Amino acid sequence: MLSLRIIKSLSLCALIGLSCLAKAAEVNVYSYRQPQLIKPIFDVFTQETGVAVNAVYAKTGMLERLRSEGRNSPADLVFTVDIGRLTDTVNAGLTQAVQSSALTKNIPESFRDPDGHWFGLTSRARIIATSIDRVEPGEISTYEELADPKWKGRICTRSAKHPYMVALTASVIVAHGTDGAKNWLQGVKDNLARKPQGNDRAQVKAIHSGLCDVAVINHYYMAKMLADPEQVPWAESVRVVFPNQEGRGTHMNVSGVALTKHSPNKEDAIKLMEFLSSAKGQALYAEKNGEYPVSNDNGRIVGFHNPLLASWGPFVQDVALLVEIANNRAAAIRMADQVGYDF
Ligand code: FE
Repeated sequence: MLSLRIIKSLSLCALIGLSCLAKAAEVNVYSYRQPQLIKPIFDVFTQETGVAVNAVYAKTGMLERLRSEGRNSPADLVFTVDIGRLTDTVNAGLTQAVQSSALTKNIPESFRDPDGHWFGLTSRARIIATSIDRVEPGEISTYEELADPKWKGRICTRSAKHPYMVALTASVIVAHGTDGAKNWLQGVKDNLARKPQGNDRAQVKAIHSGLCDVAVINHYYMAKMLADPEQVPWAESVRVVFPNQEGRGTHMNVSGVALTKHSPNKEDAIKLMEFLSSAKGQALYAEKNGEYPVSNDNGRIVGFHNPLLASWGPFVQDVALLVEIANNRAAAIRMADQVGYDF
């Protein structure tokens, strides 16, 4: 009896031995997102599924790399931020469509490609920051008011060509049409306190140093500044305003993922995408960077709690399809040139 069992397990071993020669399950990720943001979440996925995640991080050049590797690329997934960069990858023909009922159930329509080529995984609100000392609460509550002459010489933003600003302008085109948006952008330009420069945090710093009173930033930079002793005073010099709460809501963008055209580990790659869209994956991912989940009810999903975001409470989000916003990006960039925004 015992010997029979040993023989059976020996032959099982032989089988396992053979299967051990096969490649271990893995997913290869090319990421524009920083390792500390996504590595811990990949680790949880590996613990749960046994599928290893190998990630290559880069600041630039991922598109070119994917293109030159072609069919031989080891990459399964591309992680990036901003609808512009996601659609650039798709438009370069480097992705393939994913059909997954889990993804379409978990991710709202506004945050994914109708054709399944990209999926938003975390969301970010483009908010207005106002000087606590020089702007009264409620004095500005919409993007449209940024163009009001009352703010002449008091507004700071980064370049209108930066993807975050391009998406915001595109969202105004979606809301008001080309002429309306152009008047708006001209109005904002006329109110600038200085030539557009620096990143989002630099605008808050400029409020802190008294250069301007109103800025436009992505919400998670508040969390980042509050985590950096040198920048805490910048963050503490402003109030945050979630614009357009009485109307279409605050403009949202995403960080997202796309499956590469020649993904060698497609099945496991989709498994990772689905994990990241699940309540658990969402809570982990959004938490890490102070972002909002996408599969959300204004951030109120199981297991998600960020004290800063909680202190701001729920807010109305603009549900304009990001794909619509992507379609208006080129027009938004042209508009920035037409009004000479950056000069
Ligand atoms: Fe950012």
